[in-house]
Amino acid sequence: PETITVQELANRMAARGGEVVKALFRMGVMATLTQSIDADTAELIVQEFGHRVKRVAEGDVEIGIEGDEDTDVDLEPRAPVVTIMGHVDHGKTSLLDALRKADVAAHEAGGITQHIGAYQVTIPTGQKVTFIDTPGHAAFTAMRARGASVTDMVVLVVAADDGVMPQTIEAISHAKAAGVPIIVAINKIDKPGVRPERVKQELLQHEIVVESLGGETQEIEVSATQKLNLDKLLEAITLQAEILDLRANPDRAAEGTVIESRLDRGRGPVATVLVQKGTLKTGDIVVAGAEWGRVRAMLDDKTRQVKEAGPSLPVEILGLSGVPTAGENFVAVKDETQAREISEFRTRKLREKQVAAITAGRGSLADMLA
Ligand code: GDP
Ligand code: MG
Repeated sequence: PETITVQELANRMAARGGEVVKALFRMGVMATLTQSIDADTAELIVQEFGHRVKRVAEGDVEIGIEGDEDTDVDLEPRAPVVTIMGHVDHGKTSLLDALRKADVAAHEAGGITQHIGAYQVTIPTGQKVTFIDTPGHAAFTAMRARGASVTDMVVLVVAADDGVMPQTIEAISHAKAAGVPIIVAINKIDKPGVRPERVKQELLQHEIVVESLGGETQEIEVSATQKLNLDKLLEAITLQAEILDLRANPDRAAEGTVIESRLDRGRGPVATVLVQKGTLKTGDIVVAGAEWGRVRAMLDDKTRQVKEAGPSLPVEILGLSGVPTAGENFVAVKDETQAREISEFRTRKLREKQVAAITAGRGSLADMLA
């Protein structure tokens, strides 16, 4: 139908009617439960309630509750998204570099080029793996704080000559809290006299039982600098991906998460986004956080211009009105009007939060001065 009553909309979202009325009021729409609102307004509300909208036919809105709006037949296998974590100096950067160089597609593209916060490698079997190269735990924590779940698994790097350290433990608890599986990469095995067995024992104390000790956590002994067993690590990742049965519907409006962003002098706001659902195309109108714009150009991690980006592919996008914050959601929308509405709505919400924070801050400042 072209319109839907507020009550019916609330029912479909399993939300309280009063909450929907309130959300409408905040958007400047006065409506009672029995009144009808148009499809565009309904779509906005649905998104604000954290659900997805599926337009079946022009003007016809079908409301999908997150997680079940794509039927099995829509879903296609997608590349796993992997975050590498571990204690400082245990070899995260070295491992990311080594894995980037193991990319068979990089050589076809004319070498390893510019670095963005995420990249995808093609392994010799033809399978693809996406690595998120966030500057350590801070970005991961920030993303989790915003409710963004980008990573499918964590590769926990533990240096064989140093063992389990504070940030190792922190990474374990992050992964556990996020509910993502861990693969342990015991690094620096090229060093003389190192004892990988000791690392496995130490991990036991943190409820990580590796396979060689009868547990379920895959462990691979590697050397990032000597490039030892990187193929085995990639194999472990693809095996874990198969177990997780990672799928997404590429055939819908794109949706995903901002990985990083910056203001480029010549190109304006630039954001690296990870597409998680659907396919992002140049020319699409997107809302990223509270910013919006038409995607003017897209570059992949090898600085090649791309016209389309499907699930699990990280791309740099140009054309946003401003710089969104890492961890924020982005979504491709139908037109500029909708983009503006969502952007204005999010900006307003952001301001409300800031005001609340300032008000709360005043109290504590006063306390401090007292
Ligand atoms: P990060 O802080 O976890 O990103 O660690 P880095 O990748 O910066 O590595 C810290 C130091 O360990 C550097 O001097 C690396 O060269 C060294 N390193 C990393 N991986 C290996 C390895 O497999 N073997 C050896 N011998 N040294 C390594
Ligand atoms: Mg590093």
